Amino acid sequence: MRIAILSGKGGTGKSTVAANLAFSLSQTMEVTAVDCDVEEPNLHIFFPDGDVAEEEVLTLVPIVDPDLCNLCGECSRFCRYGALVMGLNGPNLNPQMCHSCRGCRLVCPQDAITEKGRGIGKVSISHPLSGLTLITGTLNEGEVMAPPVIKKAKEISNSGQLTILDSSPGIACPVIETLQDADAAILVTESTPFGLHDLELAAEVVKDMGIPSGVVINRSDGRDQLIGTFCKEKSLPVIMTIPFDRKIAQVQNRGDLISRLDPSWSEKFQELYRKTSDLKEAVQ
Ligand code: SF4
Ligand code: SF4
Repeated sequence: MRIAILSGKGGTGKSTVAANLAFSLSQTMEVTAVDCDVEEPNLHIFFPDGDVAEEEVLTLVPIVDPDLCNLCGECSRFCRYGALVMGLNGPNLNPQMCHSCRGCRLVCPQDAITEKGRGIGKVSISHPLSGLTLITGTLNEGEVMAPPVIKKAKEISNSGQLTILDSSPGIACPVIETLQDADAAILVTESTPFGLHDLELAAEVVKDMGIPSGVVINRSDGRDQLIGTFCKEKSLPVIMTIPFDRKIAQVQNRGDLISRLDPSWSEKFQELYRKTSDLKEAVQ
């Protein structure tokens, strides 16, 4: 089963929920946690132990043979991403803008284009607990193509009994890539007007993708009517409420997990997993 955890904006506690869920479930089953927030991965802060193996992530970019190129400009006209711009001596590539679609190679009438791999990031694999594998995608500084790094991290995670995918915040391409093939989604929010706005966006994305989902209200002050009303209207179950609590905040601030320190919280996160599994069962 693959569970994606997302939120419409950063700072809602999405990674904390992912890390607590991963820790709690790893006590009883094989869990793989994948940090898909490749621009700012942070799950490793909660799980610092274990040897780390790394794999580079490469994307294919075109190389033009100047001896074969006749300066026709077909490749540049084809490239909808503006990655190939014609100059006096031939097409010039802006590698950061290349989406590796390989179309320029196909349209070149001179077969002047070949390809080479270009490193854009890495995937790290560690085993910080006996039941937990942690896979972290990291995009190199200055790179903008997060989806290939996420895809690679997910490919490596394919063997586990349960995979938890910690998405980047927002609803842009990296989130869509994270959600591909997810069996269920947990939407983490806060009981504020901003929280509601971002929850609306996230709920729309998972609905469009046909992924069953439930809501976790984080840092609740007990006045959750705003979120509750929205969830009722959209038939979105609230599957967990985490209170605003100084003790929880202190534990998180020092990079620890409430479920590691307090077994009753570990049980609550196991219950969250059961409710999330039920969401998937309900649509089958
Ligand atoms: S399509 Fe081929 S021949 Fe034409 S400009 Fe591009 S590389 Fe050169
Ligand atoms: S591979 Fe695609 S995106 Fe990259 S330069 Fe060629 S046409 Fe443009």
